[in-house]
Amino acid sequence: MKTCIACGMPMTEPADFAMGDITKAYCRHCARPDGTMQSYGEKLDSLSGFLVRTQGLDTGAAVDAARDMMARLPAWKA
Ligand SMILES: [Zn+2]
Repeated sequence: MKTCIACGMPMTEPADFAMGDITKAYCRHCARPDGTMQSYGEKLDSLSGFLVRTQGLDTGAAVDAARDMMARLPAWKA
């Protein structure tokens, strides 16, 4: 099973992949409308926004948590 290199989400069905393309290494949540992968900044924004909405974190804490999570994913490793 593949997991998204940018957010770690398991991709089990073609619909989970960017543009439904199973050769892509990232999921539909990490793709821009044109199918390219979001940048680090874009993903950090969307992930921290997600944490604010779902975990009730304030923005600063959410950005820290998002940065932590992303540091463990292959797409963002230095
Ligand atoms: Zn993803």
